[in-house]
Amino acid sequence: MAVRHTPPSGSSVVHKGQKGGTTGCGIDTNKNPSHWSNTHDKITCDKNGCKN
Ligand SMILES: [Zn+2]
Repeated sequence: MAVRHTPPSGSSVVHKGQKGGTTGCGIDTNKNPSHWSNTHDKITCDKNGCKN
């Protein structure tokens, strides 16, 4: 499962995890729920926990 982070400014990044949880690299998706959407796209985050 993957989750896309689309901040108001900047490009979107696909992380490991799902909306409502914490990403593989430790971001809490509940803090800004409108920035996150579940996706089946390839993970593009290069931080530890997501890229492996
Ligand atoms: Zn990540």
